[in-house]
Amino acid sequence: MKTRAIRIHEHGGPEVLRFETVELAEPGPGEARIRHTAIGLNFIDTYHRTGLYPVELPSGLGSEAAGIVEAVGAGVDSIAPGDRVVYTGRPADAYSEQRNFAADRLVPIPDAVSDEQAAAGLLKGLTAWYLLKRSYPVRDGDAILLHAAAGGVGSLASQWARHLGATVIGVVSTEQKAGLARTQGCHHVLMSDHDDLPGAVRELTGGEGVAAVYDSVGRDTFFDSLDALRPHGVMVSFGNASGPVDPFSPAELAKRHSLYVTRPILFDFIDTRERLFAACDEWFEVVGSGAVKICVNQRYPLAEAAQAHRDLEARKTTGSTVLLP
Ligand code: NDP
Repeated sequence: MKTRAIRIHEHGGPEVLRFETVELAEPGPGEARIRHTAIGLNFIDTYHRTGLYPVELPSGLGSEAAGIVEAVGAGVDSIAPGDRVVYTGRPADAYSEQRNFAADRLVPIPDAVSDEQAAAGLLKGLTAWYLLKRSYPVRDGDAILLHAAAGGVGSLASQWARHLGATVIGVVSTEQKAGLARTQGCHHVLMSDHDDLPGAVRELTGGEGVAAVYDSVGRDTFFDSLDALRPHGVMVSFGNASGPVDPFSPAELAKRHSLYVTRPILFDFIDTRERLFAACDEWFEVVGSGAVKICVNQRYPLAEAAQAHRDLEARKTTGSTVLLP
């Protein structure tokens, strides 16, 4: 059968995205075919597009989506046609009307969660989960620093961190985003062009510095983030929105009083079905209780994915974004 999908045949800017008709095979053993109803936009999609994260060309794009199971392959009994599901994972092919995916990685969507919310929140919500519960497990009373606090991951992580009892200091680039960050859980908000960000963080923490920094900006903020940490603090460097972090000497960590640095990726924390489903239970619990709200602030037709990439990279988006097939 045929379906339509965004494909790239070369790396480059948003202009390399092409909306094409492609052949889709029947689902193989262990697979299910999903008809997408909403597709999550993520910054990682831009890294696949530019080649910062290697993908074999030609390639699809997109790492999370929600939809309806249309057909299942041999040996699949965890899911059935008609089920409403969401998934995150590889291969990156979520920017499509339909696709096949490993059936045992499809997560049923709770009734109270819409398809848009599910697609907008799974990858980002599970990222917030492992950042706050695994990379540096936040404790009641900890002060933490969170970059891009009004963005996709940032909006969810700030709400969840506050729910866990942290004092959340968010960093954003505009006054409009600052307002949003405050309503989404940040106790304090600093502007990203502040000329002394570590100094401002110290002022807010009685001179001590924060227990952990969650830094998705990368190159532009790495050393400011280290300087904002308390002794033995943890730097969680989890993204490259401004470019990858340059190589640095471990002596930089000694100089700043025995710091720790980790560079995690989501898929290492949800590598088995058991770990994936356990994480989803925690995610849908905070969503269900209302502790964390998924804000879908932008919607684009799938065919206009290139414009969505332009806006994401130009820092024009807030919260989550979905592409609609
Ligand atoms: P966001 O919605 O957060 O968008 C990125 C934000 O980063 C922008 O809105 C902007 O916020 C900020 N930013 C700072 N500097 C730049 C820059 N030079 N160019 C563009 N944006 C900049 O995206 P996502 O929620 O999809 O992802 C957030 C980050 O988390 C990304 O870096 C992504 O790679 C990372 N990530 C990592 C994962 C992992 O497991 N390691 C998993 C999921 C996401 P502002 O204008 O307020 O500065």
